[in-house]
Amino acid sequence: MSAPLLEVEDLRVEFRTRRGAAMVLNGVDFHIDPGETLCVVGESGCGKSMTALALLRLIPSPPGRINSGQVRFQGEDLVQASEARMREVRGNRISMIFQEPMTSLNPVFTIGDQIGESLRLHAGLDAKAAHQGSIEMLRQVGIPAPERRVDEYPHQMSGGMRQRVMIAMALACRPDILIADEPTTALDVTVQAQIFDLLRALQHDKGTAILLITHDMGAVAEMADRVMVMYAGRVIEQGTAEQVLRQPGHPYTQGLIECLPELGSSQQAERPELIEIAGVVPSIWELGSGCAFRERCPHAMERCAREVPPMIGVGGNGHTAACWLLAEPERNVA
Ligand code: SF4
Repeated sequence: MSAPLLEVEDLRVEFRTRRGAAMVLNGVDFHIDPGETLCVVGESGCGKSMTALALLRLIPSPPGRINSGQVRFQGEDLVQASEARMREVRGNRISMIFQEPMTSLNPVFTIGDQIGESLRLHAGLDAKAAHQGSIEMLRQVGIPAPERRVDEYPHQMSGGMRQRVMIAMALACRPDILIADEPTTALDVTVQAQIFDLLRALQHDKGTAILLITHDMGAVAEMADRVMVMYAGRVIEQGTAEQVLRQPGHPYTQGLIECLPELGSSQQAERPELIEIAGVVPSIWELGSGCAFRERCPHAMERCAREVPPMIGVGGNGHTAACWLLAEPERNVA
């Protein structure tokens, strides 16, 4: 078995505001293997995007800062890396695409200028080679007539085309890891399916590992090799996609999965929106002691208010979840 490409250990990110200090990431541990897709799942405010930003050292500071922990990329701890080294890593070794491409594409430059800039900066190509490289990248992400479209501006393209351009830019330098933060949320269902097909095909061709952040369990069923579920700044379940989708160990994950009519439903014309669990994620200012899910949990018991549950084995083979029910299996109603 190959060594992990990325290992995150006990990562803690703190925000300091006038209200005081609060942990937005609280002891996050996970790894990504070469060429695999890890899906990070959870509602808004659970820490998914914050985790991605922390990996790339892009936490807005102030008010945020990485308090402790390690982010080892090919053995190098990025938390300790210089800013110059981080500029090399970002875009070159670890790329990121966002939900709304218009916020990342510059409206006054052509598509070719923007992909070409990435190729010039990170791959050292001259202007002519970068232009040719841009056309080739557009072809690879399925944009028709790339020789013509390379000279167009972002506003001349549809939302789906712009997301393809973002993927082309992100993959131009053949990164080891592509972080995709809700990359299809703003797109209609048919285009979502096309983008996922494209990501899978490119991953297969180039061997890129993907960290896919999503709130959509349909996307998880379609894309994930492994799954990490987050809640209130902590990882509360991890395992292979099969383990987590078939035998979820945490009541929160169980709630997320109940929103899927049936596993493998991703080809449905109407993919269900994920979150229908009663209540909301508590604010980081209101966490207090104990399990952060307890106010929404149908199985909460007295211990849940007192102690934060550790990660406990669910069914073997690395499948773990943070729930006291797993320490008292006779009470587990999963
Ligand atoms: Fe529910 Fe308690 Fe498990 Fe938290 S630890 S998910 S409150 S049973």
